[in-house]
Parts: sequence; C-alpha cells; structure tokens
Amino acid sequence: MDKQQEFVLRTVEERDIRFVRLWFTDVLGVLKSVAIAPAELENAFSEGIGFDGSAVEGLTRVYEADMIARPDPTTFQVLPWRGERQGAARMFCDIETPDGASALSDPRNVLKRTLDKASEKGFTFYTHPEIEFYLFESLEHGKLPVPVDQAGYFDNVPRGAAHSFRRDAITMLEAMGISVEFSHHEIGPGQNEIDLRYADALTMADNIMTFRSVIKEVALQQGVFASFMPKPLAGSPGSGMHTHLSLFEGDRNAFYEPGSEYDLSVTARQFAAGLLKHAPEITLITNQYVNSYKRLWGGSEAPSYVCWGSNNRSALVRIPVHKPGKSQSTRIEYRGLDSAANPYLAFSVMLAAGLKGIEEGYELPPGAEDDVWELSESERKAMGYEPLPQSLSAAIAAMERSELVAETLGERVFDFVLRNKRAEWQAYREQVTPYELETNLPVL
Ligand code: GLU
Ligand code: MG
Ligand code: MG
Repeated sequence: MDKQQEFVLRTVEERDIRFVRLWFTDVLGVLKSVAIAPAELENAFSEGIGFDGSAVEGLTRVYEADMIARPDPTTFQVLPWRGERQGAARMFCDIETPDGASALSDPRNVLKRTLDKASEKGFTFYTHPEIEFYLFESLEHGKLPVPVDQAGYFDNVPRGAAHSFRRDAITMLEAMGISVEFSHHEIGPGQNEIDLRYADALTMADNIMTFRSVIKEVALQQGVFASFMPKPLAGSPGSGMHTHLSLFEGDRNAFYEPGSEYDLSVTARQFAAGLLKHAPEITLITNQYVNSYKRLWGGSEAPSYVCWGSNNRSALVRIPVHKPGKSQSTRIEYRGLDSAANPYLAFSVMLAAGLKGIEEGYELPPGAEDDVWELSESERKAMGYEPLPQSLSAAIAAMERSELVAETLGERVFDFVLRNKRAEWQAYREQVTPYELETNLPVL
C-alpha cells in the first residue's frame, strides 16, 4: 500500500467516514457513484471493485460487461454536504477490464492517454473554465422554468438568492480543495458564473464533475433548481463553459513570448491554429446536445464562426489580455464549449487539435477584430470565417470524417458517441414543436 492509500485509510478512520463513494463518468459526462464501506477500502485499492459495465452509457459491449473501478487515492475528499459525523467521502476511479487493462471506453482514460501524448513532447496541459449555469425556482414538468431573479451582468443583488447561493457553493467547493477565482451574476436572469482557478487538465476535469454535484446539492439545500443546460431560455443567453488553455514546459509557460503579438509564442499560435482548423470536427464533443446548437446560434456572445481575436467576444478563440510581464497567465480561451460537455472528452479533443497544430506547424490566420455577426455572409466568406456546425446533425457529419477525433477518443468512444448522437437527432426530428403548432396550425 502506498502513502496516499494509507492517508485515505487513516482519514476515513479519523473522520468517522461511513461511506466511501467511488466516482466515475460515463461517455456522456454523467457522474456515476458506487458506495463502499470503509472495510472494503483496502480491497478496492488492491483489487478494484467490480461492477456491471453494460448498465453504464458507452462503457462496454454487453458481452464483456464486467468492469473494475479502481479508486485514485489522490482524489480523496470528504463530501461537505453529508455532515461531519458518519459522513461520506469520494474518490474518482479509473475503469479497468477484468484483466487489468485500462478500459478503452473510460473518458478519464481517454484524457490520460491524450495528456501522455502532450507529456511526450514535454508539455503539461493546464485549463481553467468559466462555468455558467442558471438558477430556477423549481423544476416542474412541462412548465417553462422561472429564473430566481431578474438581475443581469455583475449585478449585486442585496440579499438575492444568487448571492447567498454563490457564497455557499464557493465555501463548499473550497472545502473540497477546489479554488474559485471569480464569481458573478451573468447576463441572463438567474444566470451565474463561477470561474475555477487553473489546474492540470485531469484535476480540472475531476473538479468540473465535482462542481456540478456541489451546485446541484447547494441548490437542493436552498430550495432552487440549478441547470447546466446549454440554452434553457429562448430569449436569454445560453450557458457556456469558456475554457482557458495553456501548455507549460516545466515551470515555463510555453505560450509566452515577450514582445510578440499579444506576447504569444510560436507554439501558442500553432496551438490556436490547430483549434481553429479542427473546430468543426470537435464540436460534437464540446457541444453534445441538440440544445447546444440553440446556444451557439442564439447570439448573446456565444461564438458561431471560426475565427480568433483578442478583444473580440464574437470570436471562437480569444487571447485574453494579461498584465505586462505576467508570463504565467498568457493563455488561449476556447469559447465554443458549453456547460453540459463531458470535460474529460472535451479537454482531450481540444488538446489534440492544439497539439496537431504544433506538430504540423499550422499558420495562424490573421485575427478578427470585427464583430463577425455584423458582417454579411459574403464578407465573412471573403475573410475566411467558416461557420461552426449549425445543428447536432451537422456536427455529427463533421465528426464522422475526423481522423483526429477518432484517434483521440479511440474507436470505442468515437463509435458510441456517434451512435448515441444519431439517435438523439432522430428523436428530435420526430418532434412536432410548440413553435410549429403556433406558427403553422392557425394558418395552414
Ligand atoms: N453566455 C455566453 C456564452 O454562452 C458567454 C458570456 C460571456 O462572455 O461570459 O458563451
Ligand atoms: Mg460569462
Ligand atoms: Mg470568457
């Protein structure tokens, strides 16, 4: 048993932990949890815990259903919402097949594999997300959700629901070792944003999964309903998960080159060029629901066209300004991602696209300083600003042809995602919507 595992056993004993939850994530980004008694812990570390993988989205084929969850002791945290006594804790797990191989269909493993490719080139990948979400009064089947307030961007709502919500959520996140950099009311009514302090991409993907649970828990406690749905209200902004990306070589930020345009190194420019070139084919992963495309094509500062800029909120890739000399904070922001993406897979495809740009020495096209939504179709064409996929169906078509995504996700996850998304698109197409009934029925 190693030191980390011993630490877990000791803490479980000292903190009177009654249940240890083993967490992992399915291919669609849904958190799964199996609770074990503390007495099972030693065995969980040495042998792993067996479960039926065929019941989990995308995990196995039915005829090889047995899977093993092996807890990662470095991710041990006590769950603050379960109380102090007889509490609960969690660890993220790696999923293995019974012969001890990493499961090809485990999203955490997909990310680890992609991070290994970066580390072969000497890079560590850091990310920090700006996570947007809505708070609604409740979830009532068949009714439009009612936001908890009518406030807007950066509004300070005295004694407002969102205010105490953010305070409680941040306290809980920090109790679980997740640092918050920034939080504020977003533009939409009841919409909030919490930005996490940067971390290596694997830790951050775990943190995002934890974040979603914490937000849902705090909402329950406060009698409100929290949602990460990409576009819950037709007339209000969607919930994006803009993510800031950087590559470090040891302690050195490989994206920083003082004196060049925006202090960007050649490596950073090639990485950004990779993101732009491969953006359409990774969009099914960064924006995985029918509803995601309502956000991408609904205005309100969500990006719709493939271009980059610095002070340009219509761009897909943005270079945030940083204080002169702050080399560590030079980074690239990818603004396509929404709050319902599977963070493990989304980080994997963004990293793979960026690394491809570095490997192939892609050239970054000229930046866009205009508001690309204001341009005419032909102006955009002339400038070379391609649209992102405009629907789930278009995103499926773009990913189907992608060698980069197939290679990054591995055949198993690639096929599962495509199959699942084709079924979603088909189910959606079969709907007759309130819009059609309202506009067509009275006149046709
Ligand atoms: N809500 C916007 C989006 O969906 C982002 C607003 C902002 O710039 O923070 O991308
Ligand atoms: Mg925001
Ligand atoms: Mg942003």
